[in-house]
Amino acid sequence: MNIPEIFGADVFNENVMQERLPKSTYKSLKKTIRDGKPLDIDLANVVAAAMKDWAVEKGCTHYTHWFQPMTGITAEKHDSFISPTSDGRVIMEFSGKELVKGEPDASSFPSGGLRATFEARGYTAWDPTSYAFIKGKSLCIPTAFCSYTGEALDKKTPLLRSMEALDRSSLRLLKLFGMDDVKRVTANVGPEQEYFLVDREMYSHRKDLILAGRTLFGAPAPKGQELEDHYFGTIKTRVNGYMEDLDEQLWRLGITSKTKHNEVAPAQHEMAPIFNTTNIATDHNQLVMELMKRTARKHGFKCLLHEKPFEGINGSGKHNNWSVSTDTGVNLLDPGKTPSENAVFLTYLVAVIKAVNDYQDLLRASVATAGNDHRLGANEAPPAIISIFLGDELNEIVDALAEGHKPEQHGKSTMEIGVDVLPDFPKDSTDRNRTSPFAFTGNKFEFRSPGSRLSCAGPMTILNTIVAEVLDQFYEKLKDAEDFQDALDALIKETIAENKRIIFNGDGYSDNWVEEAEKRGLLNLRSTPDAIPVYLLDKNMEVLSKHGVYSRTELESRVEILLDEYNKTINIEALTMIDMAKKDILPAVMSYVKDLSDTASTAQALGADLTVEKELVTKLSSLAAQTYKALTALEEAEDKANEMKKTATTEEIARFYHDVILERMAELRAPADKMESLCGEKYWPYPTYEQLLFYVK
Ligand code: ADP
Ligand code: MG
Repeated sequence: MNIPEIFGADVFNENVMQERLPKSTYKSLKKTIRDGKPLDIDLANVVAAAMKDWAVEKGCTHYTHWFQPMTGITAEKHDSFISPTSDGRVIMEFSGKELVKGEPDASSFPSGGLRATFEARGYTAWDPTSYAFIKGKSLCIPTAFCSYTGEALDKKTPLLRSMEALDRSSLRLLKLFGMDDVKRVTANVGPEQEYFLVDREMYSHRKDLILAGRTLFGAPAPKGQELEDHYFGTIKTRVNGYMEDLDEQLWRLGITSKTKHNEVAPAQHEMAPIFNTTNIATDHNQLVMELMKRTARKHGFKCLLHEKPFEGINGSGKHNNWSVSTDTGVNLLDPGKTPSENAVFLTYLVAVIKAVNDYQDLLRASVATAGNDHRLGANEAPPAIISIFLGDELNEIVDALAEGHKPEQHGKSTMEIGVDVLPDFPKDSTDRNRTSPFAFTGNKFEFRSPGSRLSCAGPMTILNTIVAEVLDQFYEKLKDAEDFQDALDALIKETIAENKRIIFNGDGYSDNWVEEAEKRGLLNLRSTPDAIPVYLLDKNMEVLSKHGVYSRTELESRVEILLDEYNKTINIEALTMIDMAKKDILPAVMSYVKDLSDTASTAQALGADLTVEKELVTKLSSLAAQTYKALTALEEAEDKANEMKKTATTEEIARFYHDVILERMAELRAPADKMESLCGEKYWPYPTYEQLLFYVK
């Protein structure tokens, strides 16, 4: 395979544009994209025709506006290029109008009441900053999805708005640092994507995996992840075949798949691309997830993207490596070699520290889903408490700055920002702590809380916005300073002192941290119903609307959608458990008990010792009784939840699902899992954890 040759082969990228568009069109298009202006229709017509020709040559018959509704996955509606002629034939056509705007029937996408309040229709609009690409026989055009009155109905629109906010705030502030040559500041993300691969045949026997994406029952296998023999281990041949296939498809789509390895848990793997703008990387990550699933089918696997497919085994995250860079090639989170670079770096560093401290609740809310609740705050990383890890070296510097005296490495007694150079600190030593939800890793921050299935859009939208807000606050304090240097020194010192509580370099998994964090006044929003409503707090509504990212109405509708999704998810899980317990698990146990009893009768006639049969039958019968009782209790709770839907708010129902239904589900699972470990394997109706996790050849 010639990678440079296939890379981006299915993308209408710069290269293709330059080749296929008239020079003047290409230039105008670039300018329109750079300035973020709407596309002129004549220009759109030329671009559309070129795109269509290119796509048709590559075998496309259809085009689709590809968008990201609030379901968290992507949506597409395909239209063919055909257009009838007067003599009964068809020609292939694609107009500028069709390129820039589409009108999918939007009424079935979650809108949290937005469309009821405003307009029933929605439209999709081309996002020319993300290239069109080919999937199957369709030309896919990345688009934003809005209501006719302009409310965002998707995840892309707020993300683009947040990128603009960060750009705006940065440009203003950087001018004060004399960085006048900077014309654009971009937020970037490199999302590390974790996933599980299980055998498709085994998967197809598990209703819970099929319907809920995670196992709802399952006794632990004799072996778990305790030997730590999977992480970075040799990749099995079949898995390797899958990864190679996936890489090739990603490369064809211009997605820079770079790193792949086995993860900590058995059957768990990871793929990381090279980082890109938060917008493009988010689009790419959506495609990555889609292709991971599709490719799995070809190789006899099922790809599980659920945040916690197996109890007692590490869940899957999506580490969002985030940085801010300029069009002049400066990474603003990279400690530089000169005093002025160092001043900008420290300013951004403390801006992030303050943003994360001030808006820890928003960050937590941005990653809250029913599935991710099993990771955050459960017995694994990272905790639900948001904190920042800086690493020893940087921490020392920050401490010293706050106290006004200076890091050891320097001979003088105070370090002046913008005058002194930061002491070098080794980059790799910054990444030792894997328990932190938000870690500085040398020249970027790694937000580790997002779950594997989550779109990057939500958390990146929040991060971009809250940092933009703090940069604005800094600008206000610095803009009229008599002595910029002094003002900056004071600002950095004061900001660190006021926001120090968010910095934690210890073990984020320990119980001590929970106590310590509480003392520091940090939030511990353990569950989705705890986290989501914080979007509606005044300070949060204010910052998001002030920067034009979400209007208040949009936020209200989003809260509604997210809580509703939580309720529906747990409802499906509960119903699936009831079904499995009733129709499969109890009958399986009964049939084993019957066989045991038959054996006992025969054995008794022979005068044999019946201890084993008796004990097993007694234990299983008692567990079956417990199971049945728990099953009934869960059914009753489900009835209650349905009843509540008539009068209670979505938030109240979410609380009920969290406090009561999840509890009852655990009570049903416990005896069922015990029965699994007592029952003969051939009786058990589902592939076990052992089979799912270890039998992939
Ligand atoms: P690790 O597992 O050690 O955290 P990986 O190599 O798996 O590291 O992933 C690191 C991710 O961070 C990659 O997606 C990489 O492209 C991304 N990354 C590297 N530098 C930056 C940067 N300046 N801004 C954003 N992301 C970055
Ligand atoms: Mg990482």
